Amino acid sequence: MANPSILILAGDGIGPEVMAEVKRIIAWLADRRGIRFEVTEDLVGGAAYDAHGTPLTDATMAKAQAADAVLLGAVGGPKYDSLDFSVKPERGLLRLRKEMDLYANLRPAQCFDALADFSSLKRDIVAGLDIMIVRELTSGVYFGEPRGIFTEGNERVGINTQRYTESEIARVARSAFELARRRSGKVCSMEKANVMESGILWREVVQEVHDKEYPDIALTHMYADNGAMQLVRQPKQFDVIVTDNLFGDVLSDCAAMLTGSLGMLPSASLGAPMANGRPKALYEPVHGSAPDIAGTGKANPIACILSFAMALRYSFDQGTEAERLEAAVAKVLADGVRTADLMGPEGGHPVSTSGMGDAVLAALDAGL
Ligand code: NAD
Repeated sequence: MANPSILILAGDGIGPEVMAEVKRIIAWLADRRGIRFEVTEDLVGGAAYDAHGTPLTDATMAKAQAADAVLLGAVGGPKYDSLDFSVKPERGLLRLRKEMDLYANLRPAQCFDALADFSSLKRDIVAGLDIMIVRELTSGVYFGEPRGIFTEGNERVGINTQRYTESEIARVARSAFELARRRSGKVCSMEKANVMESGILWREVVQEVHDKEYPDIALTHMYADNGAMQLVRQPKQFDVIVTDNLFGDVLSDCAAMLTGSLGMLPSASLGAPMANGRPKALYEPVHGSAPDIAGTGKANPIACILSFAMALRYSFDQGTEAERLEAAVAKVLADGVRTADLMGPEGGHPVSTSGMGDAVLAALDAGL
């Protein structure tokens, strides 16, 4: 069988810098563990605009559709701020998400022991935290019609529409239940069924999918405002949380920040299974292109490395290798290796982006 394929779109700013460390891990897996991928690289965002006048060419889009997984670095930067909206770097990323129909956005919030003091919450509340927020990504109030700013009488009115079909709710619920089966078997669904009809339907459909297809999973429902409170009060009560696009946007940022630095946060966006059974998938760090530190060797590559670990787990059925990689990251942090963004008030000597990559590779070697 052919090796599984990966399309790397490193993008702009620190994107190529953090992706370089992932490429070293891909090479390590081939050399040391015989796990090989067909890797292709292409341009996205500002880099694609510079070369082709568009943030994503049709040819790159076709490659992304054909790949078993896409790894993205980051897009954007001040150089492109004055471009027309239609060719801004972010449009490249949005086109990928839309045309690949990536409806389930997975945002883990995991607190490495060594970094528990970085959280704004007390150590005992966050240490060992490992939860996964599944946010519906392609529908809901960010896309619903009618939308716009209209005039009514003598004043303007801004309108957005929260709209969900049963099938849109059911497919993201299935993503959450499937994930829960690989984790602790617990899903909490969040909406506002007390005040929104779309929330009532959300709750009913999630329950139906559960009862028919996933009776082995422990399902609970919670109003999203209470969910926000519970996330900062006692986050470890959750395992998988599934919620809509708007609530997911807010709740996943809140949960992520429980764990400290932006340079640590991975994500995955998954769509429907392809003919080979793998889901359409795009993996990317949550952070942007960090123009303030681009080119200085200060970027933390861990978010990008952990995004690749998610690819190993969710696209390539290499859960054991994903765990090894995550354990290597945990070991490096426990040993006190830090990029500049992870330096506490006591200071110290930060390593560079490639220095962090060296340390992760050494930990992988040590774990062989
Ligand atoms: P950002 O995430 O790029 O940076 C925010 C802050 O976090 C900066 O101080 C940066 O130095 C720091 N930071 C981010 N990632 C880091 C890392 N890996 N290691 C160390 N420090 C890190 O957000 P921003 O400054 O608001 O946006 C910069 C550009 O990135 C903009 O053009 C924005 O549109 C774009 N952006 C892209 C994405 C994406 O590609 N998915 C996401 C967010 C922002």
